[in-house]
Amino acid sequence: MSEKPLDVIFEKYLSGPRIFKDREVLRPTYIPENLPHRDKEISRVGLILATALKSGTPSNIFVYGKTGTGKTAVIKYVLKHLAEKCTELGVSIPNYVYLNCSTVNTNYRVLAHLCETLGVDVPFTGLPTDEVYNRFISALDSKRGLMIIVLDEVDKLVDRDGDAVLYDLTRINNSVLKKARVSIIGISNNLKFKENLDPRVLSSLGEEELVFPPYGALELQDILRERAKMSFFDGVLEEPGVINLCSALAAREHGDARRALDLLRVAGEQAERMGASKVTEEHVKMAQNILETDRISEVISTLPVQSKLVLYSIYLLEKNQSSKVTTGRVYSVYSDLCKIVDLETLGERRVSGLIAELDMLGIIVAKLKSEGRYGMTKKIKINVPIKQIKEILESDYHIKKVVNYMPPPYQD
Ligand code: ADP
Ligand code: MG
Repeated sequence: MSEKPLDVIFEKYLSGPRIFKDREVLRPTYIPENLPHRDKEISRVGLILATALKSGTPSNIFVYGKTGTGKTAVIKYVLKHLAEKCTELGVSIPNYVYLNCSTVNTNYRVLAHLCETLGVDVPFTGLPTDEVYNRFISALDSKRGLMIIVLDEVDKLVDRDGDAVLYDLTRINNSVLKKARVSIIGISNNLKFKENLDPRVLSSLGEEELVFPPYGALELQDILRERAKMSFFDGVLEEPGVINLCSALAAREHGDARRALDLLRVAGEQAERMGASKVTEEHVKMAQNILETDRISEVISTLPVQSKLVLYSIYLLEKNQSSKVTTGRVYSVYSDLCKIVDLETLGERRVSGLIAELDMLGIIVAKLKSEGRYGMTKKIKINVPIKQIKEILESDYHIKKVVNYMPPPYQD
């Protein structure tokens, strides 16, 4: 095969209008030099951690707020500046470990990672957790000094594997450590997490507690303007429409700065791909659609199989007898499908619960309707592009077996 077609694509891309000066600046992992509208939070955390500058042990901190409110960015920012200050003063820099518990999500893995940062080799699995804990303690004590441990998205760890490590780590200073000290910073996106936490863990972790409020549209504009200056060439963004629209859309989504930055990045990528010389509000609207489609795909493809079967039943009914989708009919199609794929059929009440969940996720809308003398029933409608539902569900291995199923004809 000739290389020509690719050559053409690459050349066209390279000779097209230049949009991005540095697109990495728009990625969620980038920590900017300035964090507008987080002065109060930065000062609070800074004040607590400042203890480390005089060889003290900072209180544990528990930070929570919705996604994209700057929790991770603020904590990393303060720790970076703390280390710089320590160097400047010639005091020893605390050992600092950052773990994201959405991947490091078992007690064993947390301890293994902690050992690793202290240079202690621990196999990925196999040892008793107590043994890993003991190795961590002795390594830490032989290092002396302070270790600051950031457990980001800590709710994911506790949901999956309980709070044993959190419990141990938050009281380690008063029990087992002789020469070293530990400070824990726990971060959670889930505001309800606190309610489920063991009160003893809560009181030791939450010695200091910080809540990050959502950003408003005007605050998001300031954040985006700073990032846009670094990431786009001058004059590329249509002003002030692009930044205002990204901010307004993200403000509606619980004031999420990550969403605002994603919108701006994807809008830029759209403009680039289309060979446009300017990023316009139209590109932002396209970006909104792309991100929304991605979100829906992610939600649907990660549903448990029973929910997929329920959703597929709704899809089949809507396709074949559009206005007649009720809880009862969904249940009868769903039961048929379970038999064909040879899975346990859940009871009606459980299926009702799954329908309510799909409603909450925004994939369907279920409205309670009076059915005359038959009492109340739910009328169900799919709330996302039907083509997307079909594509994603039919790529599932169970659903593949039922694509030819036809719901029985509707009879009153
Ligand atoms: P959280 O941890 O609360 O979910 P992050 O700290 O990851 O949120 O922030 C999401 C994105 O928004 C990151 O790219 C971050 O750099 C950016 N961001 C958040 N708050 C600010 C701010 N005040 N100024 C500049 N960028 C911010
Ligand atoms: Mg975060």
